Parts: sequence; C-alpha cells; structure tokens
Amino acid sequence: MLADGLSLAKMNCFSRKLRRTAPELGSSKNELVPSKLPRINGWSWPLHGFQVVGWLVYIYLAIVSFGIYIPLLPPPWNHVVHALMGIIFILHFIAHIAALTIDPAEAGVRAKQSYSSPVPLFDRSKQSHVIQDLHCYLCNIRVGPKVKHCAACNKCVDGFDHHCKWLNTCVGGRNYWCFFVALTSATLGVLLLAIVILFIFIQHYLDPNCLRTAPQYAGIQGNTTWLVFLPLAPVKTSSAGLLIVAFGTLMLSITCLMMFAHLMAFHFYLFYKGISTYDHIKMRRSKESNIEAGKPPDVKTNNKAPKFLQT
Ligand SMILES: [Zn+2]
Ligand SMILES: [Zn+2]
Repeated sequence: MLADGLSLAKMNCFSRKLRRTAPELGSSKNELVPSKLPRINGWSWPLHGFQVVGWLVYIYLAIVSFGIYIPLLPPPWNHVVHALMGIIFILHFIAHIAALTIDPAEAGVRAKQSYSSPVPLFDRSKQSHVIQDLHCYLCNIRVGPKVKHCAACNKCVDGFDHHCKWLNTCVGGRNYWCFFVALTSATLGVLLLAIVILFIFIQHYLDPNCLRTAPQYAGIQGNTTWLVFLPLAPVKTSSAGLLIVAFGTLMLSITCLMMFAHLMAFHFYLFYKGISTYDHIKMRRSKESNIEAGKPPDVKTNNKAPKFLQT
C-alpha cells in the first residue's frame, strides 16, 4: 500500500504537464521512458542526409543549366528557356523553403509552444496507440480526427500526409500545397533540362555551329573547343568535357524525373481517391493483415506508394 501510494505521488510529480528531461515516467504505467525534443520544421537539427543531397543536386543543376547548357542554345531559344527555367527554379526555391519552414504541427502543439520541453518517445511494446479517443498521450492534447503523431518529429501533425526525408519535416495540411508546388516545379525543371541536354547532345554531332552562335566564339578556330559560363565568365573546354558533363547531368535528370513523376502520379491518384498518403498506407496495411489472417480484403487499392516515401 505504501509503495503504491509512493508510486502515485511520483506519478503526480511527473504528470504530463510537468515534462522533465529524459528519463521520465510513462503516461499510463509507472515506468521510465526516454524522451526527446520535438522537431519544429525542416531546419531543426539534425539535418537529414537526403535533405543535404537534395540541396546539392539543386545547386548543381542550377549551375550546369544556367552556366553551361542554356547559353549554348540558338536564339531565341536561349532567352526563352532561360526565362522559363528561371521561373521554375525560383518557384521551386520559394515552395521548397516554405514547405520545410512552415510548422505542420496540430494547433494544440503550436499553441503550447512546448518545443523546448522534451516529449516522451512512443514505445510500441508498452502502448498500441499514441492517440486514443482523439487524445495524444505524448503531446497531452486533444486532437482532431486527421491528426497523427509523427515518430520522427515527435509531435502531432494536423492533416498528416507523410514524413518527408527530403524536406526533413512532415507534410501535413498546413504545408501540403507548398510540397506539391515544389514537387511539380522540380518535375518540370528536370524534364526541361533533360530536353535541353538531349538537344545539345544530338546537335553537337549533327550541326555544332547552331550551338556556337554566341559572339565569344568569333575568335575560336574549329569545332572542338567549347565555351562554358557564357556570357559573363567564358571558360574553354573540350568536346569530351562538354559531353561527359552532359551525359552525367542527363542521367541525374532522368533519375530525378522518374522519382518525381512516380511521386506526382501517386499524388494525382490520391486526389482522385480523396485520401492522403497515410490513409493509403493504413488501407494497404489493413489489406495485408486481412490477407495474412485469411480474410477477404476489405479495401481495393492496387497503386503502391513510392518506397522512398513510406513511413
Ligand atoms: Zn502527439
Ligand atoms: Zn514528421
């Protein structure tokens, strides 16, 4: 009895309102559970490797597009593609920054301003659900029906779609459209770049003079010396140098294009079904568990979520 009384007193001391640094007492049992600070947005430390790779690819594609390949296009296409690609890169930059800066957390989490207090980590072996009866036991708030507690961000996200490793934050109701604009602009950008490079690759063999219309080529003899970083800082390079970078960039663009196109097609499928990525994953899990249990599947869905997106 005395031990139980002490336990109860301890539980009150460590009630959910008084979150201390790890370790602290569990929400439902008298057990120690680890805790960590919730992530605010995509800028929160630590950065994810995918996020850094995404930024480097963006910078690389901007340099080769505007510095090397667009200036080689014959007029007026060099001006047209320059303007079009400029709009796409700026649009993607704004949407990308907005998607990773906007905090997609549930209003209750943002209202509590509890980002400086560690939140207990979810332990599946002790609790089957973090949210029960529209109450999150980790954030200790009442939540809406479209809320999911993200394990990576360690907070409740309203209109949860998925946790994006490329943005290093959740995509939810508040930043979904920024994510979608970023995805659409990235798809258009790599598609346009792949077309430009393919054109230059082919014309380099068929009609190299149509790529050498810049006035800086006037004093250069032969067709084997090329200029990059026109018009501001021309640097000489060989045909092989130009083609090797073109081939590598084309492969990178096609790889990105396949990933983005797959993801876009999947999100159009979700629009058509009127569901989120998370709804889709839950349906698939339910279908798979029914199949394992020998029950007929209750949900008809054949479209697979891209593997790099599944949480
Ligand atoms: Zn929560
Ligand atoms: Zn998350």
